[in-house]
Amino acid sequence: MDQLKQKYDIIVAGAGIAGISAAVKAARLGASVLLIEHYGFVGGMSTAGMVSPFMKHSVNNETLVKGVFEDIEHEMINRKGMIDNGFYASAFRASAYNLLSDANCTILLNARINEVKRIGNKIQSVIVVTDESELEIQAEVFIDTTGDAQLVYLGGFPYQKGDEKTGKLQALTLFFRMAGIDVRAVTEYAKQHREDFFDWMEYDFDFSKIISIAGFFSFVKRAISEKRLSDEIQYIFFTTLPESGEGSFNTSNILGVDGSTSEELTRAELIGRKQVAQVVELLQNEVPGFSNSILLETAVQVGVRETRRAIGDYIVTGDDIRLARKFDDAIARACYGIDIHGQKDEESRMEHLKEGEYYEVPLRALIVKEAENLLVAGRCISSTREGHSALRIQPTSAATGEACGALAAIAVKNNKSLREIDYRIVQKEIIYNITKKDL
Ligand SMILES: Cc1cc2nc3c(=O)[nH]c(=O)nc-3n(C[C@H](O)[C@H](O)[C@H](O)COP(=O)(O)OP(=O)(O)OC[C@H]3O[C@@H](n4cnc5c(N)ncnc54)[C@H](O)[C@@H]3O)c2cc1C
Repeated sequence: MDQLKQKYDIIVAGAGIAGISAAVKAARLGASVLLIEHYGFVGGMSTAGMVSPFMKHSVNNETLVKGVFEDIEHEMINRKGMIDNGFYASAFRASAYNLLSDANCTILLNARINEVKRIGNKIQSVIVVTDESELEIQAEVFIDTTGDAQLVYLGGFPYQKGDEKTGKLQALTLFFRMAGIDVRAVTEYAKQHREDFFDWMEYDFDFSKIISIAGFFSFVKRAISEKRLSDEIQYIFFTTLPESGEGSFNTSNILGVDGSTSEELTRAELIGRKQVAQVVELLQNEVPGFSNSILLETAVQVGVRETRRAIGDYIVTGDDIRLARKFDDAIARACYGIDIHGQKDEESRMEHLKEGEYYEVPLRALIVKEAENLLVAGRCISSTREGHSALRIQPTSAATGEACGALAAIAVKNNKSLREIDYRIVQKEIIYNITKKDL
């Protein structure tokens, strides 16, 4: 690794998909970039959380998110670590390192930002706790891609957390991966027992692509009534992975936890591991197709869907999603609807957009209110709870991250503040992620 400098053009905080996309883009545009990550590896929810697959991001056969996101996909496909839109965490990590290194981006791992120093509304530096010391590192522009809006919070800038009325936060999920599944036997069972599965399931299975199976309601109900399974679990959901017989499970359901505090995350970790053991036992002993299956691995950390959201110059709302709104200063497009995984005493909600529709994300949702040089992307973008529930998916997180990287690099290069940059200049740099072609 390069010798660390005391000052960079841009500091990107948090190396999830949003941070990686921001860092790669800014570095490709010639900025000196430091990407700081608390774990000893990059990827955030895409690796530590083992979240797969990438949610839908195309309409009428047009891909809405390209750029760095597509580069990550291509790298993973070349490594045989991706099928359709499902992928392995290891393939994601390796691909991200390649792109970051090709772009000449400096990475600092095992390093946690725990203080933000500002003068007036401008951040001067961050204090980073590393294994051997505390470092103070400066930058012209800071990008908060920590998922939890850590820079916003530590810097005393405005944010919201959870539901606007109740404060509720979405359920958490510990992902796990199994091998030795007889996928054809499971799909046969599903075809014969459609009442035991979600209505949205499709039964014309194509085994060369990813297969999603969700439900097993009768098994879940019986196990809960016999006290063999936590009553927080509502269904079993898995998608297949490249290696035949492997599946990635988005099934545990951890309620009443705030994923932005260490104490609560510890509780979630213990509950999540217990739930996974219960589900695996149920599958192996009772469900057709699982008798020879094994638990391959569980995610490094419980997956956190929702904590703090920055308040920016624009706040993306549920209506912006529902009404498929478009903006002059659009920097990203998406078609994923409102998706709230209900908390205790709260119904889950999924509102799909009409087929072929998409909405846009304005540049102003990336610029943190009251801050001169702080941008935000990914899971902590400026949005209402409903808006957030749609924007949080990986492709959109990558697109908003990439737009932050472009805006930050352009501002630094021209020695201007973020709000002085004409949005059309940013759009030119990410033209492949927006609809306008006449810039
Ligand atoms: C259970 C679950 C299921 C999901 N299912 C899907 C799905 O099927 N498809 C889909 O596309 N999306 C899905 N998502 C959403 C998606 O995975 C995330 O919203 C997205 O990956 C967030 O990316 P991010 O880069 O914004 O944040 P994260 O991936 O959370 O990355 C933030 C990074 O910042 C680091 N960090 C935090 N604080 C600090 C600090 N102070 N100093 C240094 N580093 C710090 C963290 O360690 C982390 O690496 C799911 C999410 C969850 C939790």
